[in-house]
Amino acid sequence: MATGVVRSCQCAVCGSGVEHPDLEYHRQMNLLLSRLDEQQRRWYLAVESQRLGHGADRLVFEITGVDEKTIRRGREELAASLANQPADRIRQPGGGRPPVEKKTPLILSTLAALVAPETAGDPMSTQKWVRSSLRTLSERLKAAGHALSPPTVGRLLRKLDDSLRVNSKQLEARSNHPDRDVQFTHIDEQVAIFTAAGQPIISVDTKKKELIGDFKQAGCSWCLEPIAVNVHDFPGDSLGRAVPYGIYDVLNNRGTVYVGNSADTPAFAVDAIARWWKDQGRAAFPTATQLLILADAGGSNSCRARLWKERLQAVLCDRLGLQVTVCHYPTGCSKWNPILRRVGGIRILLKEKGGFSRKSPPGQPTYPRSKATPIAFHHVYAMPVDRRARRSGVFRMV
Ligand SMILES: [Zn+2]
Repeated sequence: MATGVVRSCQCAVCGSGVEHPDLEYHRQMNLLLSRLDEQQRRWYLAVESQRLGHGADRLVFEITGVDEKTIRRGREELAASLANQPADRIRQPGGGRPPVEKKTPLILSTLAALVAPETAGDPMSTQKWVRSSLRTLSERLKAAGHALSPPTVGRLLRKLDDSLRVNSKQLEARSNHPDRDVQFTHIDEQVAIFTAAGQPIISVDTKKKELIGDFKQAGCSWCLEPIAVNVHDFPGDSLGRAVPYGIYDVLNNRGTVYVGNSADTPAFAVDAIARWWKDQGRAAFPTATQLLILADAGGSNSCRARLWKERLQAVLCDRLGLQVTVCHYPTGCSKWNPILRRVGGIRILLKEKGGFSRKSPPGQPTYPRSKATPIAFHHVYAMPVDRRARRSGVFRMV
């Protein structure tokens, strides 16, 4: 790199203090050198030395302080027409320290294991998030005996997966509840306990509601002609609104979407889970006595919805005999809910409108949205709730 420092000439002429044309020439040489990088200095001085004649390397050294060996090397490089001298870099390739993943090949798998439980994303896009900041990951790696700077951690994360993005904390600033990390740790513990015991874990969420009928949908399908759809999305033109409720069986990696046709209410959510249990869960987990439900903090399975808790107790616990644990993800953290990176929305409804009616089929309940929740307040708090869990927003019903 250019130093920017102009050296004063140490030659005999300049040192004598006598006026001489060489004084200005030597000053300009040093001025130019201060703006050149390492290899440009070498080549420039080799040219100057050649111009001054035989044995001038010594004089050039006195003027500029650059070693004679360096000037000789510059001359050799010029003689070889600067072959093997890359135009875009100063040092030869191979210089510098080897990257950490070359020195410690295990570092990538260590980092992958560290971020695996905290990676989230959307099945509809390649974007992924990692919950911890680069600084936190760097500190955790340091505790594991790998001293890596946050930028290096970022580089390695990109190496793990080109599409991996680390979130910046501002985006979730509003959801930075003091118990947020406690809650995540609690969820991880519960998942580990249920996994070890082979008890079912489901991750649930309402997917995007869709109007049923000839409405424009995102995505495309292979066909000879585009399907004609309505210009406007007036709800009145629809056969109804589909309310898809997704249930993801974490241990068997199997997703199911139940589609309702009225409203996304707690009763509907619980009934969808009960139906999943009868359709699939019971067969998949014949010895199950417990069920872990991972859900967002809002919507029909909201942690504040008393009807959700009441209905879970009545249907899943009392009627089906399951001991149910519900873990809610903190507000704004729903992307960590496993279903969000496993089960996408439904887009196939257009074709299925024939099988879908605004009226519920006989025997199928409707879920009217009612302002007055017909559940008395004391019902909820009368339920046995794990104290530690309640503090961190988790309700355990037994
Ligand atoms: Zn001089």
